[in-house]
Amino acid sequence: MTQKSTAKKTTPEKPADIYSHAIERLELAYSHAQKIDREVVERLKAPRSILEVSIPVRMDDGSLEIYTGYRVRHDETRGPAKGGIRFHPEANLPEVKALAFWMTFKTAVVNIPFGGGKGGVRVNPKNLSNMELERLSRGYIRGVADFIGPETDIPAPDVYTNSRVMGWMMDEYSLIKRKRTPEVITGKPIALGGSLGRDDATARGGYYCIVELAKKRLWKPEETSVAVQGFGNAGQFIARLLHDAGYKIVAVSDSQGAFYKKDGFDIESLIRNKNKTGKVAPVLCEGENCHEVEAQSITNEELLELKVDILVPAALENQITKQNANKIKASTILELANGPTTPEADEILHSKKILVIPDILANAGGVTVSYFEWVQNKSGLYWELADVHDRLQAKMGREFNRVHALMENLNTDMRTAAYVLSLERLGEAIEARGTKSFFNAALGK
Ligand code: NAD
Repeated sequence: MTQKSTAKKTTPEKPADIYSHAIERLELAYSHAQKIDREVVERLKAPRSILEVSIPVRMDDGSLEIYTGYRVRHDETRGPAKGGIRFHPEANLPEVKALAFWMTFKTAVVNIPFGGGKGGVRVNPKNLSNMELERLSRGYIRGVADFIGPETDIPAPDVYTNSRVMGWMMDEYSLIKRKRTPEVITGKPIALGGSLGRDDATARGGYYCIVELAKKRLWKPEETSVAVQGFGNAGQFIARLLHDAGYKIVAVSDSQGAFYKKDGFDIESLIRNKNKTGKVAPVLCEGENCHEVEAQSITNEELLELKVDILVPAALENQITKQNANKIKASTILELANGPTTPEADEILHSKKILVIPDILANAGGVTVSYFEWVQNKSGLYWELADVHDRLQAKMGREFNRVHALMENLNTDMRTAAYVLSLERLGEAIEARGTKSFFNAALGK
């Protein structure tokens, strides 16, 4: 029952490859897009601006550590750059550039008035005390304060940063500018100007995609099985939303193990136990008492290959690769994680007619509610939770159906369709400022 599951080993892409893969994706979208001027693609190939800073941090023992931080604004044609800040020991410039590129396409696919940006600090935050973490967060903002701003570039949380870090960062920016500026950063604590509904927004956006797809597939929730890889923020909330809607969550995993139960788990019990013990386990809780239930211990690899209706990767990148894509039996994949499927795997899944709801659409609920937070901060009028949910559902439903229809028209996969829709929106905004053909026509050439 408690056989230890082996965490899937991934072969990390070389930093330089990550950005070149992003460019390949852009070229593929261009080959399908209608009437996009080549200038648009050339514009989008290179980020607009890059900043590298060194951040001196006084440690608790009196020593001085110097950390390297980055902020990249990939594109701002449709609005201020938008994207998270990650604290990670492997953070590097090519990765931050690629993540900023993806944000440009994510904000365009859900049609919010932002461009794409991203930030990172090369640090293992698990080795820092809370006071060191606060000094690092404030130091990063001192380094980038003239580069970010509510009308230029609006950061948010990402890997290993959270609402508390965003609160410190907003506070430091406000001190530097001598003006309270909550709209400079999103994902803040509610008490400091955060939005209701930001906590489960990523999963909820993905859930609304499933609601739309279920109408097309005539799914009956109680007959529809789901496997969720990863039981953190995104994984727990999607499991809860689908379970509450009647779906059968038959498998869940975290970095320490994976479990399968044919008739489905009680998700509230799993969440309560995970919060108490730090790991996922097959339990049923009545009040405070939780007891183990019969379930099969499987590996994370086996979870990905289960015969289920919906597979939700909600953990890491590079989980579905050319090595295992042929063994995937789910009919639909909802990519809540960023980059869980490699380009080679995409082709195999498409040939097997497996529908992949791509990350830039499936997990865009988070950035959408970040946009709502920015709007509320700027207007000073704060919305009820039901308002946030209604607006998110309207947006996700509309854009999911647009991408789905485009996929059918272009006879392609959903990821390519999502990129094409984004590229068309970016193209419209770039071309509205004039391209060679416009200027030549104006000169009578
Ligand atoms: P998190 O740290 O809260 O949770 C990650 C979960 O994955 C943890 O339960 C961890 O144990 C599990 N995990 C790690 N390695 C694993 C493995 N080998 N097999 C199975 N599980 C494993 O992170 P999160 O915020 O839920 O983010 C998860 C993914 O979703 C990331 O790719 C992130 O970029 C993406 N995402 C998150 C948000 C958000 O708002 N949280 C927004 C957009 C995208």
